[in-house]
Amino acid sequence: MAAREEEEEEEATVSLVDVLEEDEDLEQEASAVLGGSDSEHCSYSQGYVKRQALYACNTCTPKGGEAAGICLACSYKCHEGHDLFELYTKRNFRCDCGNSKFRDLRCKFYPEKEPLNGQNRYSHNFFGLYCTCNRPYPDPEDQVEDEMIQCIICEDWLHGRHLGRSVPDCMELQEMICGSCMNNSPFLWMYAAHLTGNSKEKKTEKQEDQQQQEETEEASSSFLSTTTTENSETAASCKRSRQQLQDGCRLQQLQEVGPGQSGAVFWPPSWRSKLCTCLKCQGSYSAAGVSFLLDSSDTVLDYETRGRSQEPVQGHDLLMSALEPLNRVQQLEIIHEYNDMKSELKDFLQRFAAEGKVVTPDDITGFFEQQQTRKRRRVDAAQLHCS
Ligand SMILES: [Zn+2]
Ligand SMILES: [Zn+2]
Ligand SMILES: [Zn+2]
Ligand SMILES: [Zn+2]
Ligand SMILES: [Zn+2]
Ligand SMILES: [Zn+2]
Repeated sequence: MAAREEEEEEEATVSLVDVLEEDEDLEQEASAVLGGSDSEHCSYSQGYVKRQALYACNTCTPKGGEAAGICLACSYKCHEGHDLFELYTKRNFRCDCGNSKFRDLRCKFYPEKEPLNGQNRYSHNFFGLYCTCNRPYPDPEDQVEDEMIQCIICEDWLHGRHLGRSVPDCMELQEMICGSCMNNSPFLWMYAAHLTGNSKEKKTEKQEDQQQQEETEEASSSFLSTTTTENSETAASCKRSRQQLQDGCRLQQLQEVGPGQSGAVFWPPSWRSKLCTCLKCQGSYSAAGVSFLLDSSDTVLDYETRGRSQEPVQGHDLLMSALEPLNRVQQLEIIHEYNDMKSELKDFLQRFAAEGKVVTPDDITGFFEQQQTRKRRRVDAAQLHCS
């Protein structure tokens, strides 16, 4: 990147990079910004990418037409200066840039693409609309401060107040499934009753329920196998494997959950590993289109972890370092706007050089915050810390 060479001629910039590069953790943290997404090359040749940062272009494919999604690299190189919706990450998507959904635009990376990507799934997000209330974000007509949370199944973003359930205070590392996705895979309600506190909120018809609850808890203790001593762990796993052989299905060990379950569900860490993997259940996941739930590398957390383990992208050192204190959505936006801001950032840094001051990460954060005209506030599980 040419800008880097120029920057290296300026003392203030070099010292900023030097200071920040001393901290390896910080560098690593910063490289998670891109996760598995590549800002230099269109992801089209990789086919349907397991998870990547995606954008939709309001200039090329506005509402009323066909929805299309483009990769991170295309958002810079092919749609520079366009009005883009940032979609955060989505699974199993192949870059549409320049295909038959685009009238005139050709992708600069792959001018000859197949006309359509039949396996891509689209939603109103691709037209800049979110949640069951079908509103833009940020919403000029909405003065209520609320967080947006992404459902791990439909990958839509929902307002905390539109989940049909209160958002837990401490939701670090918790995955959320919205009410409508729960109802599309109703077997998940049974897991929810055992793995989350949801069932305890419903204490109607006490007597009958209590007995049912006790039976349920007995079943779930072997099912969950969260044991404290070695002995009981061995016992539980023996019991579990015996039951797996006998019954063949973990789900059958759980009692049917009565009607009246509704709203979103927040799942505890590693809940996916508790899902039954018997053939019958695999059939249910497949029929409901949620087979990815069995894949632990499907999670956003895994995507971010992979991003952290990657080498920092060359030429992005300064940017990466500066981005670290921001949340993921801000980071992705800033990467995108980096090219537009480059000259302003240079001017900003030159002021420090003129005054002989050292630039701190706070200064950089302040700079980017000032530059941001649209502030977004979405929950990033990895950024939230429980007190
Ligand atoms: Zn692309
Ligand atoms: Zn465009
Ligand atoms: Zn492109
Ligand atoms: Zn809403
Ligand atoms: Zn959903
Ligand atoms: Zn099963």
